[in-house]
Amino acid sequence: MRVDKLVSRVGAALLCCIFAVFLTSAPASASTTDLKACIRIAKSGETFAQMLANPGKFDCESSQNGVPPGTYWARLDIPASTKTANLPLTFRTASLWDDGLELAVVHADGAVEHYRPFLEQDIAPLRLGSTLVVPFEERQSPITTIYAKIPNSAALRGIILQSQLSLADEAIHYEMLLAVFYAAFMGLCIALLVYNLALWRGMGAPFLLAYCAMLVATLTYAIVTSGAPHYFSATLSAPERLRMTLVLLAINAAAVMIFIRHFFDASSIPKWLVRTTYIHSAAMVAFAMLHAALAPAYVQLLDPIYVYSFMPMPVIVGCYVTVAFRKRDPFLRYFLAAWTAPAIAITARVAFGLGLLPYHILIENSTLITLAIEALISSLAIGKRIQMIAIDRDRAELAEARAMVIADTDALTGLPNRRAFIRTLLEAPREWQLVLVDIDHFKRINDTLGHVVGDEVLVQLAAIITGYANDRSIIARLGGEEFAIATRVSPTAQTGGEQSPLVDAEKLLRLIRQTPMPGGYRITASVGVATRAICEEQDWIVLYRAADMALYRAKAEGRDRHVDYSMGRAAA
Ligand code: GH3
Ligand code: MG
Ligand code: MG
Repeated sequence: MRVDKLVSRVGAALLCCIFAVFLTSAPASASTTDLKACIRIAKSGETFAQMLANPGKFDCESSQNGVPPGTYWARLDIPASTKTANLPLTFRTASLWDDGLELAVVHADGAVEHYRPFLEQDIAPLRLGSTLVVPFEERQSPITTIYAKIPNSAALRGIILQSQLSLADEAIHYEMLLAVFYAAFMGLCIALLVYNLALWRGMGAPFLLAYCAMLVATLTYAIVTSGAPHYFSATLSAPERLRMTLVLLAINAAAVMIFIRHFFDASSIPKWLVRTTYIHSAAMVAFAMLHAALAPAYVQLLDPIYVYSFMPMPVIVGCYVTVAFRKRDPFLRYFLAAWTAPAIAITARVAFGLGLLPYHILIENSTLITLAIEALISSLAIGKRIQMIAIDRDRAELAEARAMVIADTDALTGLPNRRAFIRTLLEAPREWQLVLVDIDHFKRINDTLGHVVGDEVLVQLAAIITGYANDRSIIARLGGEEFAIATRVSPTAQTGGEQSPLVDAEKLLRLIRQTPMPGGYRITASVGVATRAICEEQDWIVLYRAADMALYRAKAEGRDRHVDYSMGRAAA
């Protein structure tokens, strides 16, 4: 099994385990009781004492959805089966748009305890998972009813939701579980962020930066929505958190859309789709900011529009999927694997936003759970994509190297050509001895024995010169039947040391003369020699001209000989 498949399966299995633990732990257990809320609107200026003296009629049947905003009383009846006497209990309820609730806990013996968590605690009573947590005092007499006052509820999707009474231990256990979940999620985000930023610095691919932006948005959203900032700030109210969440969720959605725009092969995506993506993303964020700035004012009007502003997302994503499917984009299957879970989560959230699904802690946290899955699978897809980019780059480099070798090589003899020869000389500025070798009357060979034999002669001569030259020499076929040997002039050679590594032209001419050519043919050659320090192209021109003149003289003087125009050397 390939490594990426193995990693993706192990990753998916791990996530399923975490998800399963979370799923089974989140709902009420044996020591947690779900409390059904009955509500009634509070009369203006009505106090707890007045309400307790005359509770009035609470509505237990109608949905809390669609009631008008205002101050409400809620009655939470404790089922007879729930043991509450002499037990450390914790009350928990969802954090919604209101001015913070107050509680009156009524016991069987008639005693009433008041809790004003937002006013009396040093830190906001919001805990991980953004639920409001109020620890109750232990009493001998069991609790019969909990009354809550919800001042200035915006009545958005409900007045008081997801209220539970649990043993203090159970509440701590739940909080710990959430802490593990958030820590794992944030750790994952930070790790992915660091390594994708490093990759982006190295590769510069825009999809990596888009992915990092998405991770930052997700991470910020996770931190704020977790409720963790409330542990550190007493002044941060629940509506402030909701306000930030509104904007961050929209930024997150925009970052996701921009990442998707960069996820597929850019050349296959039509311009109108890219434009639509950006316009929709900007509109989502702008509207969220307006909504957050005004909230809770006009919340009943603005919230449905806010929810609707996310709705083009599945349509736009559908367009990307269709385009990718048509172009057979290799990343489509990764995309579908990564985004199916978030798509379901977004659908659930929108359904909840429109009142089609009831509140559930899993819906509240679904964005994070599914984004964790997405982040992992997307990072695998990115790994795959980088692998493909690396393969493409290697191929291109190999092809370029091959092309360069072909461009620098003489096809017939396999020797470097004139271009490569001159470049090598210029790359190593020093004094060079240049030896030009030109076959005598080569035209006759072509004319009498044909071009094929002529070619064979050229190949044979290339072999003779290669065999003769020392390893400090550069050999090339300059063109036609003209070859060149360039040798570095070492100080010992210049001072006339015994073992001169320079080309011995006479020895070379003898070798050419004596070596039988194809068909037993014998050839002779003429040689022109010159020496000069080469620093720039002009030096090469001067050196070549001198060697060529020497060669011309060798031809003129009867061929099969050499002429040396090197400074300080006697001409042959
Ligand atoms: P000289 O002694 O003055 O050098 O006479 P030459 O005939 O060798 O020189 P010339 O420049 O008159 O002719 C060179 C010939 O080399 C002409 C051309 O057809 C031939 N030639 C050039 N390149 C090739 C090649 O790749 N293959 C073959 N077979 N012939 C070539
Ligand atoms: Mg010739
Ligand atoms: Mg010639």
